[in-house]
Amino acid sequence: MGQTTLSYYKKHAIRRYGFHGTSHKYLAETAAAMLGRPVGQLNAITCHLGNGSSVTAVEGGRSVDTSMGLTPLEGLVMGTRAGDIDPAIPLHLMRTLGATAADMDAILNKKSGLLGLCGDNDLRAVIERRAKGDPEACLAMDVFVYRVRKYIGAYTLSLGGHVDAMVFSAGIGENSALIRSLICAGLERVGVRIDQDANAEMCGGRQGVISTPDSRVKVLVIPTDEELSIAQQTLEVVSTEASAAA
Ligand code: AMP
Repeated sequence: MGQTTLSYYKKHAIRRYGFHGTSHKYLAETAAAMLGRPVGQLNAITCHLGNGSSVTAVEGGRSVDTSMGLTPLEGLVMGTRAGDIDPAIPLHLMRTLGATAADMDAILNKKSGLLGLCGDNDLRAVIERRAKGDPEACLAMDVFVYRVRKYIGAYTLSLGGHVDAMVFSAGIGENSALIRSLICAGLERVGVRIDQDANAEMCGGRQGVISTPDSRVKVLVIPTDEELSIAQQTLEVVSTEASAAA
């Protein structure tokens, strides 16, 4: 092989690309507008929680870290994706089970996450089973919530403890007051205080603030709009090119 890590980066384009960028951009811009400040003056942690999930740290309006990597597999526990695991695990399974690279791809991307933990990838089903005390569903939700909290903790420090807003979006983030409440539970010491009534109401496509007025970090629910963001960015490119050609 004889290659350095840098040569993998240069020759094979191995790097952390991140995903959901259009959504995180839209969320940061909308959060800034809701807080009445320019996006360039916003520090935020944006949580896009759907069947695919990612968290981004936004500093001065720019993404400085994000949980997905070269592929969407890295980071949070998702509907069917494992998210972060010890990179030695696939090697171990390949050696001991004779699993191929294609097998590992399918296991990690399509058979892991909530599905792998409890047999359901739709969080609504997991929540229903958890309410009846199903231990596998309880475990799956605990792991899902714990991983989101871990990233929020890491990104809070990445931002030097200066977080203006925490944003919830996508299928789970926009609709599940329970998940939002579990993610924010006990975070008062880091400036996050949820208004449980506002949280319960902010579902089904509603946009608004779910933190209390004295919460140092404003917690927002914002239905993402990737189509609008793509259209806005396309317009920007087209206008720039048109004025350069004029
Ligand atoms: P998305 O990929 O953004 O379309 O999100 C899809 C996921 O959102 C589904 O797999 C569900 O797990 C989740 N979801 C949608 N509505 C709810 C809800 N009311 N409570 C919990 N999860 C929900």
